[in-house]
Amino acid sequence: MKQIRLKAMAKVNLGLDVVGKREDGYHEVRMIMQTVNLYDKIFISVSEKPGIRLKTNLNFLPVNENNLIYKAAKLLMDEFEIKEGVDIQLQKFIPVAAGMAGGSTDAATTLIGMNHLFDLGLSRRQLMERSVKLGADVPYCVTGGTALSEGIGEILTRLPDVPRGYVLVAKPGISVSTKFVYTNLKLDQLEKHPDIDAQIEAIRRQDFVQMARLMGNVLETVTIPEYPVVQEIKDFMMDCGAVNAMMSGSGPTVFGLYTNQIQAEKACERLRDAGLAKMVFLTTFVGQNPYA
Ligand code: ATP
Repeated sequence: MKQIRLKAMAKVNLGLDVVGKREDGYHEVRMIMQTVNLYDKIFISVSEKPGIRLKTNLNFLPVNENNLIYKAAKLLMDEFEIKEGVDIQLQKFIPVAAGMAGGSTDAATTLIGMNHLFDLGLSRRQLMERSVKLGADVPYCVTGGTALSEGIGEILTRLPDVPRGYVLVAKPGISVSTKFVYTNLKLDQLEKHPDIDAQIEAIRRQDFVQMARLMGNVLETVTIPEYPVVQEIKDFMMDCGAVNAMMSGSGPTVFGLYTNQIQAEKACERLRDAGLAKMVFLTTFVGQNPYA
């Protein structure tokens, strides 16, 4: 039986700027995307029985065509007229609706898995072209690593790997709708934009501290007033010695960057004890996806 096991990696945004709004309502962004070592596990096996069957450990997630994994599998099965079926198991570890691209990375990883399993022969670029139909962040998730994301998220420029450091991730016990945040963003009233170009320069110079100091996310102007716990977690991480701490994507996940492992471990312990967040873990940055 043909089968494949894959890791679908989460991301954080080291910088997130919104630079305009298109007539079709989509926002134009400039974001620095970075893979972190936190992942869902996806297991796909080929079956003689036609169709897509999906199972997951989280009972509140859809397992029908509303799941991005289902959509990704169907996209390639339709295009390549695959007559066999697939059984897919998703073990979810990435927080859901949290600003870590959980659904997008599952979709991207399913495309990669299907490409291997059915010998479709699609290149990385060809997978990325198809993946944008599933969501703006999906093309980035096909390759992962460090990248500048522009347009509505589909224009990607690869950047050098970021310097080594420790990433403390905390997700409070609330979910935030990405749509809500973008709808309520007052673009013309933004007082500050992050300097994405300077941050890219810091990455090129492998200057971890400067890269961290330049972090900024304009979506915090919407999410933090609505959910003050996001600011509380940021402050807590800073008090525990983070070089900087910021919300990822539309939130509510917050991450703090540390240069020192022991300090990061202590911060992790203290944050868990404080009870501000439902999920707290210490992780690291990861480079490009070797399978894409
Ligand atoms: P982003 O960082 O790209 O904004 P997110 O973390 O805000 O992503 P997701 O975790 O991708 O959001 O989930 C958003 C919604 O998508 C969920 O409410 C869920 O019902 C739906 N969804 C569909 N497929 C999946 C999947 N495979 N994993 C998680 N959520 C999924």
